[in-house]
Amino acid sequence: LLICTMACSQTTEKPVYLRSDAKTEDRVTDLLKRMTVEEKAGQLNQLAGDLNTGPASGNADWQHKLEAIKNGQVGSMLNVVGAAKTRQVQEAALAGRLGIPLLFGYDVMHGYKTIFPIPLAEACSWELEQVERNHAVAAAESSSAGVHWTFGPMCDISDDPRWGRVMEGAGEDPWYGAQLAAARVKGLQGNLDTNHILACVKHFAAYGAVEGGKEYAYTDLSRVALWNKYMPPYKAAIDAGIATVMNGFTTFEGIPVTGNRYLVTDVLKNKWNFKGFVVSDWNSIGEMVNWGYAADKKDAAFKAISAGSMMDMETQAMVKFIPELVKEGKIQMKEIDDAVGRILYYKFKLGLFDNPFAYCNEAREKATLFSNENRKQSLEAAKRSIVLLKNENKVLPLKKEVKKIALIGLYASDKSHIFDFWKGQGNPNDAVSLQEGMAAAFGTSSISYSAGYVDLSTTTNKSLIAEAVAKTRSADIAVVNIGLSGDLAGEDRSLANIAIPADQVELLKELKKTGKPVIAVVSAGRPMILTEITDLCDAILYTWILGSESGNAIAQVLAGEYNPSGKTVMSFPKATGQIPVYYNHFKTGRPSTTDGKGNWYSRYRDVDNHPLYPFGFGLSYSHFTYSNLTLSDSILDNNHTLQVKVTITNDGDHDGEEVAQLYINDVAASIVRPVKELKGYQKIMLKKGESKTIQFTLGSSDLSFYDASGNSVVEPGKFEVFVGGNSRDVLQEQFWLK
Ligand code: BGC
Repeated sequence: LLICTMACSQTTEKPVYLRSDAKTEDRVTDLLKRMTVEEKAGQLNQLAGDLNTGPASGNADWQHKLEAIKNGQVGSMLNVVGAAKTRQVQEAALAGRLGIPLLFGYDVMHGYKTIFPIPLAEACSWELEQVERNHAVAAAESSSAGVHWTFGPMCDISDDPRWGRVMEGAGEDPWYGAQLAAARVKGLQGNLDTNHILACVKHFAAYGAVEGGKEYAYTDLSRVALWNKYMPPYKAAIDAGIATVMNGFTTFEGIPVTGNRYLVTDVLKNKWNFKGFVVSDWNSIGEMVNWGYAADKKDAAFKAISAGSMMDMETQAMVKFIPELVKEGKIQMKEIDDAVGRILYYKFKLGLFDNPFAYCNEAREKATLFSNENRKQSLEAAKRSIVLLKNENKVLPLKKEVKKIALIGLYASDKSHIFDFWKGQGNPNDAVSLQEGMAAAFGTSSISYSAGYVDLSTTTNKSLIAEAVAKTRSADIAVVNIGLSGDLAGEDRSLANIAIPADQVELLKELKKTGKPVIAVVSAGRPMILTEITDLCDAILYTWILGSESGNAIAQVLAGEYNPSGKTVMSFPKATGQIPVYYNHFKTGRPSTTDGKGNWYSRYRDVDNHPLYPFGFGLSYSHFTYSNLTLSDSILDNNHTLQVKVTITNDGDHDGEEVAQLYINDVAASIVRPVKELKGYQKIMLKKGESKTIQFTLGSSDLSFYDASGNSVVEPGKFEVFVGGNSRDVLQEQFWLK
């Protein structure tokens, strides 16, 4: 009896870390006390699984990984997905000495199984609630498939469309980028229940400033640019409560960002008081050796941890060298405890110790993935992402009289081009092609299809063009899907030439000769250079990469079932040599003059300074006129706000939505400021013939900027305010800040 009592009381006295009723902080402290330095180093180790095989395959690589997991050498895995598979791998972790569960991370950039428009496209909707919902669906799907953590949102501001990764971000504006960052974090993390996942803001910091738009390259940047242009979206993600931050592959001030103490410790941990954890990018710790910043992997681990970085994605340097570095006294145990404690905190927070298989629920997975409801949300998002750039003679929407449509373009039918690099677990064969979408919207017999070009061709395929021309001749109109294969958007997809490929231009030239109206539908993960094609087509519908419902969304817009309302969040350059061309560029000592006297100013001699389509631009089937821009006062002081009113009239012939944008210009300041900065917008619905007066409120904080130390500064003086339907065509007023 005595023996039994002792045994029973022992089993009820669980260690604090295993007690779900204990405070999370106490559980973390208790567990840290029980861990060896090797086990702590293991928590900092993130290992890649394999998306195509699982432990059940019994292959040697998996055996090896499972062994390491059981031995406490792995804290997190990436690229292990699926309820069944994550359960098997988690079981190995739970069988370890302390039974510390793994955290499963995966890139859920714009959907898991139901694929949404790429983030750049989604941003063109200017609808934050939609954005939040899209990401909530992505979170619900991925969490049902065992994923705890996504490596997104990517919040790198970029004005260089040569960079393949602009597709992952929010475009060129830091202020709007910050709004989007917060919405995306909210959608993904929600209240961190089992329908949501941890988010990770990346690539900290300023990866979008990478030299020449070239992946993995050097960045040279002033602190003033860092703070004003690149930091706002990262900061907004932190303020929205994001759990994790990812380092990048680039450098800042000559130091790889993964080992950059200024960025990770001084700013992120100290200035911003970030309490979550930091993960390296894929082998970005190891890459510090290639950069010539670390002598070897041990030195790299030392430099990364000293800078404040925590989890090591794939280099396996932390797990290998931390015990040695601690023994040698180079790293203090309290630094390791801080890093490990932050990771454990989130494992507790997600409930992984108490209910480790809550995310591995095959029934929920089956019910959630690619559900009709999720596809409906994706379709909604896709329609709102499309930007109408040109619509000569109101050729769109297609009229009832259009009976026969020549649908041209390989990308309209071959689904292998429909998704980008970050397609998650989306299956391109489940996605709706443009050909299928057109057939659904207009009827199969109305559509006659031909390919027109082959993928990545440098030479014109004459017979494909001839066939397309013949089909156009016997149709009322041609809809031509051109651009780039989706696969050319994403990581390691930098391009030196982003013009429409020569064979596609040739195709359009021949189609134009038929005299039939030509509608260009351009698919690409970046703004392309459209200069050569604008005169060859009557309409240009820029559709980016729209995900699972792509074809339906485009067809419904062509048919006028949805009136396009998207506005581009990146400027469209006129020529590659004009890059970077962005709306919020700086003033110069030689601004251009309009006096026609041929004064010398900052410019190229062969191409003017303006983009082909400016930031914020996008047409509607209707037309909106702005009038009566008025300010409530000509003076603003710290204790008051200024009301900016403008009237918008829908004087076209459709009901439609308009994104009204407000910009400011700080006329003279202690540092040179951009010619315009977005500070507000409103998306409103106007029936045809309807007028509405809308109001923006400006406070002195809207007029602030950052100094080189990252402190917000407000300086009195003269300001200009602009309101319009894009960053170029605006009404203007001015006021003084006292
Ligand atoms: C990318 C990250 C991504 C990681 C994991 C890296 O190559 O730069 O954005 O999250 O891989 O897939």
